[in-house]
Amino acid sequence: MTDTYTRLVSQGLGKDLAKRLGLPQPAVLRRYTPGQALVNGPVLVQGSTPGADELATTLLSWNLDVRRHAVPGEKLGAIILVLDGLAAPADLEKPVLSAAASLRDLGPSARFITVSRPAAEAGSPAEAAARQGVDGFVRSLAKELRAGATANGILLADEAQSTSPSTLGALRFFLSGRSAFVDGQFLTVSSANGVLPADPDQPLAGKVAVVTGAARGIGAAIARTLHRDGATLVLVDIPAAGDHLAAVANEVHGTALQLDISHVDAGQRILEHTLQRHGRLDIVVHNAGITRDKLLANMDHARWNAVLNINIGAQLRINEALLASDQFRGAPRIVSVASTSGIAGNRGQTNYAASKGGVMGMVRTTAPLLAARGGTINAVAPGFIETEMTARIPFAIREVGRRLNALQQGGLPSDVAEAIAFLASDAAGGINGDILRVCGQNLVGA
Ligand code: NAD
Repeated sequence: MTDTYTRLVSQGLGKDLAKRLGLPQPAVLRRYTPGQALVNGPVLVQGSTPGADELATTLLSWNLDVRRHAVPGEKLGAIILVLDGLAAPADLEKPVLSAAASLRDLGPSARFITVSRPAAEAGSPAEAAARQGVDGFVRSLAKELRAGATANGILLADEAQSTSPSTLGALRFFLSGRSAFVDGQFLTVSSANGVLPADPDQPLAGKVAVVTGAARGIGAAIARTLHRDGATLVLVDIPAAGDHLAAVANEVHGTALQLDISHVDAGQRILEHTLQRHGRLDIVVHNAGITRDKLLANMDHARWNAVLNINIGAQLRINEALLASDQFRGAPRIVSVASTSGIAGNRGQTNYAASKGGVMGMVRTTAPLLAARGGTINAVAPGFIETEMTARIPFAIREVGRRLNALQQGGLPSDVAEAIAFLASDAAGGINGDILRVCGQNLVGA
């Protein structure tokens, strides 16, 4: 499902006309389907460190068509630039300009991925400058690439290496069609934890997952995606959405739990239902959320409290119940849905942005508590996603909102779901306390 304008300008007469009139020409993005090739074409691995050599050797074992040197004119599926040995900004010139020479050879929906180290852990100002330089470089390149190609980066923190399980997991995610709407972003691998799945098309096999707000929109897409990836599902939504919830639960062969997550005992109810029906609980996705938009000057207590209570208060209370339980052990996973509004701010959404900023603060601080039991907690921050919620925005405002990102289109609920499925998988076991934006790289705000 792509928006009508994108379909019109992607072929034939519409394509020619849009080009002549200088109108945006969003590409039809390559999205993941099971069995699909990881990447469309050879993968050029650049960089002269031992980390680059080890990574290239690992990718060869995945049966990818790996190049260590560009073959002029050959179309590429991806460029991976390993920059894990930078000591000063001058070190950027050679590898970056060498990769630049191959940019014109990138095919449609190709990938450019850097592997580098975080500035916060640098040993000197010059080293920090070089490392932070990678951030600005990748975010700018992402805005230059066309035809659905994206640029993203992986940061190796602490003891993480270029071939640590979650470095490879993040690399697979970024290379694949699962990351279609993730652009100009970084994932931080903070430990050597994590395991690559035996079957890349069933990374959640054997897991039991709870998804809140699953009756429609992004929550229903999360349920479908986790089911496709092998998980058994418990779907939660308010009683008023019971029929829709039952329909989604039937579709994914899961169980439905009618529950308002803002009830004080919601965490206990979720635990009891899931353990009774399925005997275990591995993954909780906090997706349910509401908006009650008003300029702050017109804000009332009811709007403020409803949004804060459902969007962050409920998540805090449910997490407390989960962490108090002996049954939520054995590498448990929590993934929360935040929003780019909570990062960049949005007019009329002070309450919503406060709640979503709250989600991100909560995720960072809860991370060590999950790490203590071998688990992780992360968040995704969606930008403009095509849902019933955004379909209600007046046409002109909607059209501006959906085009103002590097990919010139809105994302699909499945794009958010893919990022969540990755963060919930064993391959992401070394990624903890991170926030991943799924926003096509919004052009405005942070
Ligand atoms: P939606 O309104 O279509 O679906 C939200 C679901 O949550 C509904 O089924 C609703 O019944 C359920 N829900 C609401 N309050 C609940 C409660 N107290 N208990 C249990 N269930 C409850 O919204 P959506 O667009 O699918 O958004 C899903 C999440 O993604 C939300 O957290 C939202 O803030 C976030 N998000 C959406 C967008 C977007 O563009 N649509 C962008 C950024 C973030």
